[in-house]
Amino acid sequence: MNEEIKNCRRCDLWKTRTNVVVGEGSLSADIMFIGEAPGYNEDKQGRPFVGKAGKILDELLNSVGLKREEIYITNILKCRPPGNRDPLPEEIKACTPYLDEQIEMIDPRKICTLGNFATDYILTSFGLKSENIGRIHGKIFKASETLDIIPLYHPAVAVYNPNMRPILIEDFKKIL
Ligand code: SF4
Repeated sequence: MNEEIKNCRRCDLWKTRTNVVVGEGSLSADIMFIGEAPGYNEDKQGRPFVGKAGKILDELLNSVGLKREEIYITNILKCRPPGNRDPLPEEIKACTPYLDEQIEMIDPRKICTLGNFATDYILTSFGLKSENIGRIHGKIFKASETLDIIPLYHPAVAVYNPNMRPILIEDFKKIL
């Protein structure tokens, strides 16, 4: 599947990307983190969460004793929207079959969604009602007997608003 994603032209984002960011981590992870889309640094390096938001994500993971190698991290879009604009509905529709396959393959026990776009997509696809992340962050949704979905703020919110950091730290404790 990785080669297919790397050569993908299903939406127009292939025209402006430098690298496709498929995702990384353990393919047998119990916990999956799903963000929105690659940013500038991710597009340059072809890896998820390597910029400022990635640094905050690493700190948050550390705060609950999780290592990147034991989780799997990806995004709903695998290519960077120009200027980091919001994903378009047609881009989400074109790209999320890859994410669905990744979820099926990894078969996690917990999915942590980072921000509104990932939360909305994942809750809706598991037949659950989505709301703004401001209302449901840190709550645990039962998607099935064996799968919990935990919506979290996107770590990027703490880049420009340090007041969000303690809220993120509290929410991350719920993962365990
Ligand atoms: S964002 Fe997804 S659907 Fe669009 S070109 Fe990239 S991999 Fe393909």
